[in-house]
Amino acid sequence: MLSSRAALGQARGTAAVGQPMPYGVKLPDNPQRAKRPDSVGFAIVGLGGYALNQMMPRFEQAERAHVAALVSGNPDKLQRVADAYGVPPQSRYSYEVFADIASNRGIDAVYIALPSGLHAEWTERAFAAGKHVLCEKPMALSSAECERMIAAARRADRKLMIAYRCHFEPYNLQAMDLMGQGAVGQLRLIRTEQSYRMGPTSPMENWRANRALAGGGPLEDYGIYGLQAALYLSGEMPESISATAFRPSNDPRFAEIFAHVSSQLRFPSGAVAQLVTSYDSAGINAAEARGTEGALMMQPATAYSGNEMVLEAGRDRRKFAPGDSTVQFARQLDHLADAIRDGAQIRTPGEMGLRDLRLIEAIYGSAETGRTILLNPDGTRRS
Ligand code: NAD
Repeated sequence: MLSSRAALGQARGTAAVGQPMPYGVKLPDNPQRAKRPDSVGFAIVGLGGYALNQMMPRFEQAERAHVAALVSGNPDKLQRVADAYGVPPQSRYSYEVFADIASNRGIDAVYIALPSGLHAEWTERAFAAGKHVLCEKPMALSSAECERMIAAARRADRKLMIAYRCHFEPYNLQAMDLMGQGAVGQLRLIRTEQSYRMGPTSPMENWRANRALAGGGPLEDYGIYGLQAALYLSGEMPESISATAFRPSNDPRFAEIFAHVSSQLRFPSGAVAQLVTSYDSAGINAAEARGTEGALMMQPATAYSGNEMVLEAGRDRRKFAPGDSTVQFARQLDHLADAIRDGAQIRTPGEMGLRDLRLIEAIYGSAETGRTILLNPDGTRRS
């Protein structure tokens, strides 16, 4: 039985509530291999599609990270997953007893893989329990939430990292290097497009269609990759943003969220970025940076695997194959472990998540008012 608060939360989409085993999950045949003594133990919060299909299987490749505990609202799923990963009974938690992780010395860090609207609350709870946090993207649904999360990390004197996996992915890392070396000459234009067609659903059925859990929709979920790419390919922060957002009427998928968001960022150098994201157009995941001497084209740009990248300059066409994209998952786990154990600087800290939420707020602000929004270098509005 759900408590009345949880039932209310479920209706409104604001409480952590157990869900069925996601589609297509393949649990490991053998429990995890033993890791080095200073391996960081993670508690996984939310056993959804991304945690079970992508992140958890990749702990195997991490040198310094292991799954130490699980937190789920579905007892059957919790038992099946814990048995498969070899998580002992005393390290299996429901949401109700989450605070008990404080006394579990085997848990160093918490990985938040819940719907985006729950990131802030559960990150703050993890810090209250004295643990470090790896939080999925988007960091939260507002800059105010991000600021609270950063303050909670400081109070607890613990690390906060946002799971922006492209900062650990070989193609995107090489793209950053190439752009830093001026491979396209002077940058003029970045174009990114992250879209797919959402199947029939409604805000009650699917958290991605629910405003309380997903914010405005495709921009926070998928378009955030294009926004990130625009920033790490240009190496700049926009000084102004203009945008439009569209929500069709009479479509239950878009009763609460936008179907498309399109924005234009102008950088101090004069370069411009055009970002498009949609939940209602045929699938694409592309990024392109065009300058005075050539163009760097990535498609797919930010996938789990199978990314492609080409640099065109005049008649030259160079295709890159910098390595296996699937290393990105384990590398981000080891990166947080290195920050925890050795004090290494986090490449994707809470401040980066906050920066991005400020820009997302500016995009929605412009779409709502029809005005260009002028920004300070930290993404706050210029008054
Ligand atoms: P999902 O719906 O498959 O899983 C969400 C899980 O959260 C559920 O299975 C359940 O265990 C838990 N949950 C707790 N309360 C819930 C509630 N009220 N409603 C729904 N689920 C609830 O979603 P997902 O695709 O795994 O996404 C989870 C998070 O991971 C999101 O923040 C998303 O943005 C992020 N994500 C990141 C990537 C990436 O490439 N970095 C990819 C996919 C998802």
